[in-house]
Amino acid sequence: MRVAKRLGWYGMMVMVSGSSGPARLYADWLNSVFELIPTHRADSGLSILCLGAHSDDIEIGCGGTILRLLQTAQCRVTWVVLSATGPRRLEAFASARRFLKGAKSTAIVTKQFKESFFPYHGEAIKEFFERLKRRCAPDLVFTHYRDDLHQDHRIVCELTWNTFRQHHILEYEIPKYDGDLGRPNVYVPLPEDLCNAKVKYLLEGFPTQRNKHWFTEDTFYSLLRLRGIESFAPDKYAEAFYGRKLVLGG
Ligand SMILES: [Zn+2]
Repeated sequence: MRVAKRLGWYGMMVMVSGSSGPARLYADWLNSVFELIPTHRADSGLSILCLGAHSDDIEIGCGGTILRLLQTAQCRVTWVVLSATGPRRLEAFASARRFLKGAKSTAIVTKQFKESFFPYHGEAIKEFFERLKRRCAPDLVFTHYRDDLHQDHRIVCELTWNTFRQHHILEYEIPKYDGDLGRPNVYVPLPEDLCNAKVKYLLEGFPTQRNKHWFTEDTFYSLLRLRGIESFAPDKYAEAFYGRKLVLGG
């Protein structure tokens, strides 16, 4: 219970589903579980690392959860976009600042690895992750989904697990033409006002993406609503993640 009082994140209702179907884990249960996790540093707030291949990925995948975290915990956020050049770099910075305005501290990092070519620049990207590991010790990492069909997203996920080996990692999802949405097992229900903020920030923050057929208000609300149905979210909406490993009592 001590952790939950200090870290609002752990007081949030989170849904976890297994192969036998969804099972609701309420805050009290979750709090007692997180007591067993040795790596949290409740006294100094929550350190979060957000990793995205492209400038709008983090916002699409976990923007609502970040907004919720910032409402409920003192957060120090490192926000990394690996491929952002020209106007997309400016969008990435402006959008990150908008999403993170409630953070205790922020570090926004953009790199210029060539979009769509991440598998062919693996060594340079790996070296960047090694440097990132030395400057950042997150309690919680958000990254791409392991089975994402975009090659850049997949590389970021693989390097996240290679690099952050004693950390709590949640993989977020990005809707796309390839149709790679799966069955996530961690849900974060979101109030409607945060969903509205997420979608508004996305649509206003990335004018270079408005010509994409999928970059629309209904896309973002549809996925939030679908995950809300799956998690029986009280305000209808949720973001969903893949939590592959949870180490307790180590
Ligand atoms: Zn992307």
